[in-house]
Amino acid sequence: MGRVLRIGRVELKVLDLEKSVDYYTNIIGLEETGRMGDSVYLKAWDEFDHHSVILTKSNSPGLAHMAFKVETMDDLAYYEKKVEEFGCTTTRISNNTRLAEGEAVHFILPTGHHCELYHEIGFLGTAVGFRNPHPWPLGWKGIAPHRLDHILLTGNDLKTVTRFFVEALNFGQSEKVVTEGEEELLGSFLFTTNKAHDIAFVKGPDAKLHHAAFHVDSVHDVFKAADLLSMYNVPFDVTPTRHGISRGETIYFFDPSGNRNEAFANGYMSYADMPTITWDAAKIGTGIFYHARELSESFMKALT
Ligand code: FE
Repeated sequence: MGRVLRIGRVELKVLDLEKSVDYYTNIIGLEETGRMGDSVYLKAWDEFDHHSVILTKSNSPGLAHMAFKVETMDDLAYYEKKVEEFGCTTTRISNNTRLAEGEAVHFILPTGHHCELYHEIGFLGTAVGFRNPHPWPLGWKGIAPHRLDHILLTGNDLKTVTRFFVEALNFGQSEKVVTEGEEELLGSFLFTTNKAHDIAFVKGPDAKLHHAAFHVDSVHDVFKAADLLSMYNVPFDVTPTRHGISRGETIYFFDPSGNRNEAFANGYMSYADMPTITWDAAKIGTGIFYHARELSESFMKALT
C-alpha cells in the first residue's frame, strides 16, 4: 500500500468568521476557494487541491479536525482497517458533507483529536499552473506560504499516539523528547513525507491545538513575514529564531481567535529509514528554541 501522502487539511474553529477570513487571506495570503454554511474554504497559492484550511465559526477557538490524504481509494480502505485494528472506532463521512470533499474515514486519536483520512477532493491547480510555470505568482498578498506544512497538538499519552501513527498509518518518528531512562515521552515528531515532521505532539492537555504551520522557503521569508506581521500589528508569540528540533527557521503568531500559527522554513529532509533523533528533557529549551535555549511561558501555556 502507498504511504499516507500528507496532511491535507485543518479545520480551525474561529470566533469571528469575516475577521478571520480577512486575516487568512490578506495577512497569511491564502486564497478563498468557497463557502458552505458557517465555513470558509482556503488554499495556499502552490497547493492544487480545493482547500487545505477550513475556517468554521464557533464559540471557542481550536482544531475541529485535521485530515490526511491517501493516494488511492484502496489505500483509504486499507488504512481504515489498520485504524480499526489499532482499536480506534472509524465512521465513514459521506461525500459533500463539506465542500468539494469525497468520502472520508473519521476517527478520534488517542489524544482526543478528531482526525480523518480521505482520497477524493476537488482539484483547482496552483496559481502558476503546471505548464511552463513561473516560480511564484504575480500580485501575491501577505506571507503567501507555499502550503500548509504541519500541525502540533498536545496530549497526555504520547507513547500511544506515536504507536498509532507508526503502526496504523505507517509514519516514521523523526525526533522525540524523553525523560531520563525514556520513561516518559514529552515530545514526538512524526513524518509521512520527506519533511522533518508532518504532525507533532507535545505533552499537555488532550484534544488541544498548539499551532498550525505554513511553509515558506527561507529564513529571509521568515523575516519578511515578521515585518508584515508588525505592519498589521498581529500579536507575536515568538519572533524569528531557529528550531533545534527539525532545524527549521520559525516565527509564531496568533490569528484573531487566538489560534497559534507558524511560518516555517527549511528543516532537514527525512527518510523512512532515518534513525530517530533523541532530545533529553533537560535540553528541550534548546530543542525548541535553539538560540534562546529556554521555553517561554506563552509557548507552553497558550493552547486552543
Ligand atoms: Fe511547528
